[in-house]
Amino acid sequence: MDLDAVRANVALLRERAGGTEVMAMVKAEAYGHGLVETARAALDGGAAWLGVARVAEALRLRAAGISAPVLVAVATRGEPYEDAVAAGVDLTVGSAWLARRVTEAAERSGRAARVHLKVDTGLSRGGATMADWPATVEAALAAQASGHLEVVGLMSHFACADEPGHPSVSRQLTAFREAVEYAEKAGARPRVRHLSNSAATLTLPEARYDLVRPGIAMYGLTPIPQAGTFGLRPAMTLVAELAAVKRVPARSGVSYGHTYVTERETTLGLVPAGYGDGVPRHGSGLLEVLVGGRRRRIAGRVCMDQFVVDLVDDAVPAGDEVLLFGPGDRGEPTAQEWADALGTISYEIVTRIGTRVPRVHTGTAVERTVDG
Ligand SMILES: *Cc1c(COP(=O)(O)O)cnc(C)c1O
Repeated sequence: MDLDAVRANVALLRERAGGTEVMAMVKAEAYGHGLVETARAALDGGAAWLGVARVAEALRLRAAGISAPVLVAVATRGEPYEDAVAAGVDLTVGSAWLARRVTEAAERSGRAARVHLKVDTGLSRGGATMADWPATVEAALAAQASGHLEVVGLMSHFACADEPGHPSVSRQLTAFREAVEYAEKAGARPRVRHLSNSAATLTLPEARYDLVRPGIAMYGLTPIPQAGTFGLRPAMTLVAELAAVKRVPARSGVSYGHTYVTERETTLGLVPAGYGDGVPRHGSGLLEVLVGGRRRRIAGRVCMDQFVVDLVDDAVPAGDEVLLFGPGDRGEPTAQEWADALGTISYEIVTRIGTRVPRVHTGTAVERTVDG
């Protein structure tokens, strides 16, 4: 994980957002990059806020000594809200029920809950519908009046910001403006109003408000592949070490099911990474990796712990580095290229890399942290 790339991407996003505050979205283990290390690099790059999905992730950031504001962006019923309030973690509230639940937690922990009220402006996922917005705002403001809750933010989330010109974008912006007006007329004084993900941060200046919440772009992956890379640099490189090399005769069936059969006498290389590490089994016979300076396609099926490549006559010794994906500088595929081949998005490629794979963090941000 190139943390210098994370820092540079955050700085680039901040500049693209015209200096608006940045909330670095580090949910799901920072999209697979390692929660705490990546969060530190993002703060170093100029982010003022952190965003996660679950309370447990926020508590890990606090336990690591990170005191920056952290928002739990997903509202579920069974979260340890008392712990969140006690740790000064911001919560997303999209219903009157949750406003009351969080208020109870605040009463018990003796500290006011910091909340961001979320309105569903058209994603039809989390947040209060426009019809339920008044009741949500009123429940929160009543708790605020009694000192148990502070409405820190008003927020929403886009459905199609990654599809330039999609008509839902302007509809959502209009609905958000109305919802903000309603809450402010009712007496809310939010410090931050926010709804921009990476795609909106990069392409919709009118959606910036007080804070933007980029995720994927921080990691150097484009949120809008058809619009290019926006000068972002991928932070993750997935590396393996060639475990074994062997010469086999023509007509050798390779890996489970013999879906690949050698045409001639050839050299096979064994790569110790499989679907247990997050290499998609759908990539069998499809994905390419860089080995011995050359692109080679995965030969036959991806297994749980390993896959095979056909090196033909290349003299690549066991122990050589295999680049599965990375920034692309050395000719290796990018996560975007893997995603395109598999019919998915780069988010899924990086986030699915399993906990068994050690994360090695590099960059001056790491050195500074280590030096204290
Ligand atoms: C994940 C997430 C984001 C970031 O989305 P990207 O498309 O990765 O930029 C922003 N806001 C919320 C609420 C999220 O859950």
